[in-house]
Amino acid sequence: MRAVVDHVELAPPPGSLPGSPTEPSPPAAAIATVRPRTSAASRAVTLVAVVVPPLGVLSAAGLLWGVAVRPLDLVCFAVLYVATGLGITIGYHRLFTHRSFEACTALRVTLAVLGAMTLQGPVTQWVTDHRKHHARSDIEGDPHSPHLSGAGVAGAVRGLCHAHVGWLFSSKGMERGADWGADLYADRPIRLVDRCYLLWVVLSVAIPFLVGLLAGGTVALGVEALVWGGLVRIFAFEHATFAVNSICHTFGSRPYDARDESRNNWLIALLTFGEGWHNNHHAFPRSARHGLERHQLDLSWLVISALGSVGLARSVRMPTPSQRERALRRAELARAG
Ligand SMILES: [Zn+2]
Ligand SMILES: [Zn+2]
Repeated sequence: MRAVVDHVELAPPPGSLPGSPTEPSPPAAAIATVRPRTSAASRAVTLVAVVVPPLGVLSAAGLLWGVAVRPLDLVCFAVLYVATGLGITIGYHRLFTHRSFEACTALRVTLAVLGAMTLQGPVTQWVTDHRKHHARSDIEGDPHSPHLSGAGVAGAVRGLCHAHVGWLFSSKGMERGADWGADLYADRPIRLVDRCYLLWVVLSVAIPFLVGLLAGGTVALGVEALVWGGLVRIFAFEHATFAVNSICHTFGSRPYDARDESRNNWLIALLTFGEGWHNNHHAFPRSARHGLERHQLDLSWLVISALGSVGLARSVRMPTPSQRERALRRAELARAG
């Protein structure tokens, strides 16, 4: 791999984010309202919410095998899950939101289109929401914190529901995009991708349908591929991504003092190609690599690294070993104190 490593700054204090407008810092009391640890009840609810739906889908696939699920359907599911998922993790998140590397227009547009095919909204809206999340993480103004919905078991459950899907109906897209994503509003190819959003939505289900139709020769097999490679795949990746907002701010380890409730969760990292190393990410938001330890699998980073080795990703940012060392020491001191 070429020398593509650049240093990256630590997490900015709440209220400021590179490339976003400066917000007034919240009072210290607002930070102190975050509960010190997750309740047992909310952990149990989270565990059920995470484990049961995928088991249901796997059971359905097993029961329907040979009847309404075939190998081609699973190939459509897997290929589109990975391709469109990387559009979110590498494109929407690491490239467009955090500018953790630079890429040519063709690659930027490709990643924006693939990300749109997950049905998580136009890239500009996604980016503005996510930049606000980092600037106000787990304090008042965070669009999807699980920790701002009241005390007790009821508050914990309400918070998890809000962070997972509730916020999509209440606080999603509430920001003035031009304030939080001025760089993207000035990016004409990306604005064009945004304006064609519905086209990418149609493509997201039309592609598996056409594959099933052409390979199987019947409309029924086209519809079958559309269901597994389109609808089920969109459902699966959506909830994996939503879990980064809910689970990864509730459930997992916190090696770094990121000034919020972000956690590292290996299961979510596996399902989201590295995004589950969320405490690492909040500690070093501009790092292109989230799985900072050797054992922390981060498929998105491996792809960015490969793109860097052929010159398609430039100015790739990563924390230096001494930055990580200092951050870990600070976290240890904070825990001890
Ligand atoms: Zn977060
Ligand atoms: Zn982020």
